[in-house]
Amino acid sequence: MEKVIIIRYCEIHLKGKNRGYFEKVFMNNLEKSLSGIRHEIRKPSGRYVVENFDEARTDEIVARLQKVFGTHTLSIAYKVPATMDDIFAAVLAVAPEAGSFKVQANRADKHFPLNSMQINAEVGGRLLEARPALRVDVHAPQHLIGIDVRENGDALVFCGWIKAAGGMPVGTSGKGMLLLSGGIDSPVAGHMIAKRGMTIEALHFHSYPYTNRQAREKVEELAHILAGYTGGLDLHVVSVTHIQEAIHKYCPAEMMITLLRRFMMRIAERLCRQTGAQCIVTGESLGQVASQTIEGMTSSGSVVHELPILRPLVGFDKTEIVERAREIGTFETSILPYEDCCTVFLPKHPLIRPDLAKVAEQEKKLDVEALVAEAFASAELVEIHR
Ligand code: ATP
Ligand code: MG
Repeated sequence: MEKVIIIRYCEIHLKGKNRGYFEKVFMNNLEKSLSGIRHEIRKPSGRYVVENFDEARTDEIVARLQKVFGTHTLSIAYKVPATMDDIFAAVLAVAPEAGSFKVQANRADKHFPLNSMQINAEVGGRLLEARPALRVDVHAPQHLIGIDVRENGDALVFCGWIKAAGGMPVGTSGKGMLLLSGGIDSPVAGHMIAKRGMTIEALHFHSYPYTNRQAREKVEELAHILAGYTGGLDLHVVSVTHIQEAIHKYCPAEMMITLLRRFMMRIAERLCRQTGAQCIVTGESLGQVASQTIEGMTSSGSVVHELPILRPLVGFDKTEIVERAREIGTFETSILPYEDCCTVFLPKHPLIRPDLAKVAEQEKKLDVEALVAEAFASAELVEIHR
């Protein structure tokens, strides 16, 4: 009996005329996720099947596929010749010893001598005989045994569904630039946007030597975790040390964050133009901290001229964000203590509702263009692999 993995996809089927394109991108992403592992992916109608892989690595393959956006559920199945005896041998291999079950057969091959209902009845009956501690429950079974009789003379037999990442294949919704701090929120924001099919690049600002090497490594690790979902990503690292020093020297202390945010946005927009990214993505959530008021967002947004700023977490509570961060595996890294640049020169009382005119007035004291150009020139590119 050969082990295979069934991949069922979600929203792709909604895409009408573009379906072929979506499926191609998805297939490519699936292939990429399994690079380095021997395998073949086939696509009989309506789903994908991974075959010819090293069975000792099944768990690893499942873990990788689970993260590919567009994947709805997976099942580990046995592929057997489509005869009732072979099918039943596979059912015995996947079925539990005790508890309630239901058999759900699906017959794509209409020449198969039994119809789906008959397969369910026959397999269910034989299973009850073989495993006396099992019982049938067609409404709320603990275990669902699936049997797919395919057109090519094979049948796939499995027990249960493994939930996967969902969403749409990365690469089908354009490209965005994620402002990635070392905090809890921005990795979650990046995950949400990538889940909608967007390719992401990340931009991190540091204030070395005020921030240290560990802060940088932490961000690289967060990017690496995201790369597990997106298939790799480009991380741009930019120094805002001189910008923070200039603000500190010439402007009121309480405007540090407000002004710094505007610089970040300018640099981000410029980087978008260079890389072809079509939007800026942040982890802001309305009212969460002083700089995330609507006035704060107005102030930072007003320096971005051509691109939308996506804030997928805008309506989330911190507890909801933390829950997601745990689910996607970024939380433990995010809570490591290393400082990111915003805590350097942090004022005791940051401006909560910055007035745009006053902010612009203070900003005149700085050579904005030169500072942006200098920071931009400091950009380093780190290619983060899955
Ligand atoms: P996070 O947990 O994402 O750091 P936060 O609640 O700490 O968010 P802020 O520090 O106010 O919020 O940052 C708001 C958003 O600004 C972040 O979600 C991120 O998108 C962006 N940002 C903040 N600091 C940086 C940085 N050093 N580099 C890149 N982006 C940053
Ligand atoms: Mg932060």
